[in-house]
Amino acid sequence: MFACTGYAATAADAPLAPFGFERRDTGPEDVRIDILFCGVCHSDLHQARNEWRNTIYPCVPGHEIVGRVAETGSSVTRFRTGDLVGVGCLVDSCRTCQSCRDGFEQYCENGFVGTYNGQDRHGRGITFGGYSRAIVVDQAFVLKVPDNLDPAAVAPLLCAGITTYSPLRHWKVGPGQRVGIVGLGGLGHMGVKFARAFGAEVVLFTTSASKIEDGLRLGAHQVVLSRDPDAMARETGRFDFILDAVAANHDINAYLNLLKRDGTLVQVGAPEDPLPVSVFGLLMKRRSFAGSLIGGIPETQEMLNFCGEHGITADTEMIRMDQIEAAYERMLRSDVKYRFVIDMATLPAVA
Ligand SMILES: [Zn+2]
Ligand SMILES: [Zn+2]
Repeated sequence: MFACTGYAATAADAPLAPFGFERRDTGPEDVRIDILFCGVCHSDLHQARNEWRNTIYPCVPGHEIVGRVAETGSSVTRFRTGDLVGVGCLVDSCRTCQSCRDGFEQYCENGFVGTYNGQDRHGRGITFGGYSRAIVVDQAFVLKVPDNLDPAAVAPLLCAGITTYSPLRHWKVGPGQRVGIVGLGGLGHMGVKFARAFGAEVVLFTTSASKIEDGLRLGAHQVVLSRDPDAMARETGRFDFILDAVAANHDINAYLNLLKRDGTLVQVGAPEDPLPVSVFGLLMKRRSFAGSLIGGIPETQEMLNFCGEHGITADTEMIRMDQIEAAYERMLRSDVKYRFVIDMATLPAVA
């Protein structure tokens, strides 16, 4: 074991604070990574504050990790010391079920191991995430980061990026299709970038007029204010695919009605309460309403390579580690363009 420092929540109502803990030594299959940057995902806040009622304290959040390889285990062949690498939402899974064998570790039938608040398969402890100086991860769950991209702006790709990339790919979004992205936040802004890069006609739906300009700059061909009933009515039945990234409760039927025959709406934002769905809206045009969870390791690597080839990264705001609570408060007000990233050099040397 080696001593590591990080930032942890020790209770639902306690602000995150410096925390000392131990990480396992580098095993034969392991990669030890010195963390450079960690993105701030809304899940971090939910978990730190026990809003999903399953948090085990102390909790070190963070699953949008970019760093450099500091040490490799004896069986590691794909990585070398100094490589720029990433770790996303998963650090392990059963590796034997059908989903794992198909490369969909996020749907592991025995439950994947989350990067934080997960049941560690290397011991009886709980996993600690990326708000920390270093992390040790099995090579099978470590991703190569293209060298031509800004590493800080790559970090959010590991959760927000793959969460939007995966459904756009799975439902084969591309040229000739009209695609809606609902909500311009951490997820939505990546959805706009990817849908545009895949060649679709992209329409952003937002509640706030102040985001029109940004939506167009990020790649949307058109921005529709969802609070304008006339503007929404004009879009009825015009979409092949809609990606809904809104995590707050909202009227899902208003968007299902925008789908063409056989169109699909995929929900990636996760509202706390069930959404009432009008079944007639679905059956009249054979529409589908689906969900999608992050992405597996092969697809996450494919996404990073795609981003390298097309120069795609997240729009970020850099913060110091000790600004995390203020960042959470701003995130709750949607006051971030469009992802906070922590500069891990600002972590105190000793907790
Ligand atoms: Zn996340
Ligand atoms: Zn599995």
